[in-house]
Amino acid sequence: MADVGETRCTVKDEPEIIIIGAGISGLAAADYLSRNGFYNFKILESSSRTGGRIWSINVEGLNGTCKAELGANYIHGIERNPIFQLAEENNLLALLNKNKTLSKRVVFVTEAGEQVPSKTVKEVDWCYGLLMQQCEAFFQCGMQTPIENDSVGGFLDREMERRLAKHDGDDQYIRRLIFKQRLAVEAMISGADNMYEVSLGELGSYEELPGVHYAIPPGFEEVLEVLKRSIPKENFYLNHAVKNIDWQNGVQGSDGTHKSVCVECRNGKKFYADHVICTVPLGYLKSNSRELFHPVLPEEKIEAIQRLEFGTVDKIILEFSEAIPLESDMRKLALLWDNSSIDGQDLSSTWYKHIFSFDAIHENVLLGWISGKAAQYMESLTDDEVIDACMKVLEQFLKKDHIPRPRKIVRTKWHSNEHTKGSYTFIPVGGKVQDIETLAEPLTPPNADKPAVLFAGEACHPSFYSSTHGALLTGQQEAERLVKLYTEHHSDPEPDDDSDDGGLAF
Ligand SMILES: Cc1cc2nc3c(=O)[nH]c(=O)nc-3n(C[C@H](O)[C@H](O)[C@H](O)COP(=O)(O)OP(=O)(O)OC[C@H]3O[C@@H](n4cnc5c(N)ncnc54)[C@H](O)[C@@H]3O)c2cc1C
Repeated sequence: MADVGETRCTVKDEPEIIIIGAGISGLAAADYLSRNGFYNFKILESSSRTGGRIWSINVEGLNGTCKAELGANYIHGIERNPIFQLAEENNLLALLNKNKTLSKRVVFVTEAGEQVPSKTVKEVDWCYGLLMQQCEAFFQCGMQTPIENDSVGGFLDREMERRLAKHDGDDQYIRRLIFKQRLAVEAMISGADNMYEVSLGELGSYEELPGVHYAIPPGFEEVLEVLKRSIPKENFYLNHAVKNIDWQNGVQGSDGTHKSVCVECRNGKKFYADHVICTVPLGYLKSNSRELFHPVLPEEKIEAIQRLEFGTVDKIILEFSEAIPLESDMRKLALLWDNSSIDGQDLSSTWYKHIFSFDAIHENVLLGWISGKAAQYMESLTDDEVIDACMKVLEQFLKKDHIPRPRKIVRTKWHSNEHTKGSYTFIPVGGKVQDIETLAEPLTPPNADKPAVLFAGEACHPSFYSSTHGALLTGQQEAERLVKLYTEHHSDPEPDDDSDDGGLAF
C-alpha cells in the first residue's frame, strides 16, 4: 500500500465517493482517484475477496504449486491494451517462456476417438475465419444484414453449408463437426448459450486489439495487486453487499452536510456520499436493478439492461496425481461431438456433450470448457457427478478403458454466484451497442449539477465489453470524470489585476 500520508495532495471541496464492487473496474477507479489525490472514498464489496471475475487459484503441479484461473485468463491483444502495458511494466510476463514444457499441438478428435488430419482442420478454420470477418464487417462498414435481426449462428450456418456442399460423404461430415465445434468455442468467446443468440449486425462493435493473447504466469490477480498498491487498506469494505442506492432525494450525511446519495448494505450499515461509482456486473443488474436503485432507474436504462445479455462460461479444472492422460505434446483436445440429434433433449442426459475441449494447463492439470445452459446445469451437480462425466468423455475420446480419477476438481459456478449471475456481456439479437452507451450514462438528479451515480464495469464499454481491459478503462474513465469535476475549475488561471483587458469591463 502507498504511504498516503506523504503523497496526499489537497483537493478543494474533496467529495466523498463510494465505489461499489472490487473487481478490476472498481479497483481501477480507486487507483485513479488515489493517484489524483482523492482519498475520500470507500470500496464496498459484497464478497470476502477482491478481484470479482479475476480469480487466480493455486493448483498442485507435479513439480510444485502453480496457478489456474477461474475467471479471466488472457490479455486479449497487445497494442493499446492497458492490461498488457501494466503487466509488462510490472514484469508479470517475464516467466512466459521459462520452463515451457507444454507444446502447442491441438488435436481434434471424433466421438469414435479418431484424430482428424490437421490439414482438414486448417481448411475449415481458414474458411471459418473469413466468414467471421464478414460477420464483423456488417457493423464495421454499416451494412444491412441479409436478413433483418439475423444472428451470427444463422449467417454462419447458411454460408458454411454452401461451402460444405463442395464436399461429400465422410469428408463433409467431419468438416461439419469441426465447424460446429468452432461455433461452440465462438459461443464461449461471446459468452452466449449459442451463436443463434448473438446479433449479426452488432458483432463487429467489439474491437479486437492487435497482437496475441497472453496469459499471466504468476496469475491474473497480480495485475490487481499493482492497482491496489495506491489504495489505502482502510478504504476497503469487504462483505458489504449493497442493498439499496438512494440517489435522488438528497440526504444528510453523518457529518451533517448534504449528500446526494445514501448507500445501504445488507448488513444494515449505511454510507453517505456525493457520488457513487457502481461497477456491479450486468448479470446482477439484470436481476436486481429495480430493487437496487431508489428511485428506480429511468425506464430507458432498465430497457437497455434487459436487452443486453449476460451468458455463462464455466471451467472444470481436474488435478491428477500423475501426468494427464493426453499425449505429452498435446496442448488441447478439441471434442467433435455429433450433437445433431440431441437438440431439445433433457440436459440431465446430454449436458456433458457440451464440453467442447480440454486444455492441458499443467503436466497434471486439465481444464474443461463448457458454456451456456449446459454450464448452468453443470453448476447444479455434485463434484462426483461432474468428475464421472468428465472421465467418461475422456475415456471415450481418448479410446482408453480406464483413466485414473483426478485427485481434485475445482469448477466455477459463475451463473449461481448471486453477485455475478453469469460470466460476461454480449449483444444479442434485438440488442444494440447503444444499449451499452445508455447503461453507461451517469445519473444526475433533477436540479443537481453533478452526477450522483456513475456506471463502470465491462458491460459499460462500447467496444471492449466482456473484457478485463474494457472493465479497467471504464473504471478509470468514471473516476476521471469526477476528478475533472473537482479540479478543472480550480486550475483556471487567476485573473491578473495588472493585465490590460483591452478596455473590456465585466
Ligand atoms: C470464465 C471467465 C473467463 C474470462 N476470460 C477472460 C479473458 O481471458 N480475458 C479477459 O479480458 N476477460 C475475461 N473474462 C471477463 C473478465 O473477467 C471481466 O470482464 C472483468 O473481470 C470484469 O470486471 P468488472 O470489474 O467489470 O466486474 P467484476 O469483476 O464482476 O467486479 C464486480 C464486483 O462487484 C461485486 N458486487 C456485485 N454485486 C454487489 C453488491 N450488491 N454490493 C457490493 N458488491 C457487489 C462483485 O462481487 C464483484 O467483485 C472472463 C470472465 C469469466 C467469468
